Amino acid sequence: MLESAQGIIKKTAKNLHLTKDIVNRLIKPNYIHEFEFTVKAKGRPVIYKGFRIQHNNTLGPYKGGIRFHPGVTKEEVQALATLMTIKCAVAGIPFGGGKGGVVVDPKKLTESELELLSRAYARLIAPFIGPNVDVPAPDVNTNSKIMEWMVDEYIKTQIPNPNDQQKPKSKKELEQLRATFTGKLVGKGGTLGRTEATGRGGVIILKALLKKINVGTIFKSPEKWVNQDSSLQKKIGGLTIAVQGFGNVGYYFAKIASEEGFKVVAVSDSHGAVYVKGGLSPEKTLQCKKENGTVAGCYCKGSVCDLRYGKEITNEALLELPVDVLVPSALENVINGENMRKIKAKIIVEMANGPLTDEAYEFLSKKGVIVVPDVLANSGGVTVSYLEWFQNMKNEKWSEEKVNQRLKKMMEKAVEVIWRKSEVKRIPLKQAAFELAIERIVKK
Ligand code: NAD
Repeated sequence: MLESAQGIIKKTAKNLHLTKDIVNRLIKPNYIHEFEFTVKAKGRPVIYKGFRIQHNNTLGPYKGGIRFHPGVTKEEVQALATLMTIKCAVAGIPFGGGKGGVVVDPKKLTESELELLSRAYARLIAPFIGPNVDVPAPDVNTNSKIMEWMVDEYIKTQIPNPNDQQKPKSKKELEQLRATFTGKLVGKGGTLGRTEATGRGGVIILKALLKKINVGTIFKSPEKWVNQDSSLQKKIGGLTIAVQGFGNVGYYFAKIASEEGFKVVAVSDSHGAVYVKGGLSPEKTLQCKKENGTVAGCYCKGSVCDLRYGKEITNEALLELPVDVLVPSALENVINGENMRKIKAKIIVEMANGPLTDEAYEFLSKKGVIVVPDVLANSGGVTVSYLEWFQNMKNEKWSEEKVNQRLKKMMEKAVEVIWRKSEVKRIPLKQAAFELAIERIVKK
């Protein structure tokens, strides 16, 4: 993943005729913070490994989520931090790129162990973060509750010791420190609309692109299917979608797409997948998942769940369904050399970070599949994180409607600029997105 992120930056920099020094600056992270720390779990001390990587802050404070997962590695965190630099630039927000992670399976921890771990990690990164320095957020297996523990712990580290000569911080200053983390609980500095933002942003982007694709310009060649296959000319209601991953991103993408009239026919989680030919109800499916622990076996159509409607399929089969739009929203590298030839979707919206390997991306793009790159597709989350930070810094509280309106405007603007670039230069969306981001960073 790191090689891939650095590879596309190098390729883009070459196309833009940038010097070696500039390329190095775009590749190398500014800081790598690496920790080993001990937390008591199951009554005994356990050593955990954690990272915070600050890639580039040319456009503003480092920004990026914190991931709790047994598969976290330094290379993965660095790759994700690098992609955050590009993503913030693509979305046109004044942030740079960072990312954090802890090697842990949080599902094996009790809530109090998870809290101890989150607080310990927050204490370790506290010297390196702040509202104008580095602003972390949730990512895989972290949520607003975890952000609350972390922001609380962070603020404790910022209150001067009574023995110090330092002036105590005012209530307003302490309040502003909450802007250090985004994705907080609403009512505790969090913004309305953040939970749904990544999924909502993805749907806004898909709709904005569909309008362009119907106009049909750059996809005449080599993506010849657009002209031969009229399916995209069908109304949104005719378009079928399969969503891999039914967590924060996948669920809200499915729910909002369904509300917008798309037909979501399949969803999956780590235990399995469900396919309902006539379109499923994401809300009912979530309810069913809550009761059964997985979406597999949740055949929910309209307002009911019934065995007659659908069938249980494997996670692999979901990716290979003959749908119009495939939305990988779980983990990286799920579409790769092994399954790329079996992918039948015409559009892939990369809601997860790095769900396609380079090999699969090259193969599918050549075949004419439109790939909406992650740096654009899932930038709705960081965009609303920016809106949360903005409200905290200005001491404002916006309605959900205002947040959603701003998100829509910013996402549509990002699509417009990237589409225009890809059209003018006759390059794929991914290349256009990277060129736009790198130009914005280099020009600053
Ligand atoms: P999450 O933990 O809420 O959900 C992940 C989902 O993927 C779960 O439903 C899990 O069961 C499922 N999953 C795991 N392995 C799977 C497999 N092999 N097959 C099918 N499903 C599988 O995480 P999330 O916040 O939804 O993030 C998902 C992806 O989106 C990640 O790549 C993350 O980096 C990216 N992302 C998230 C945000 C955000 O705002 N949460 C923003 C940008 C990008």
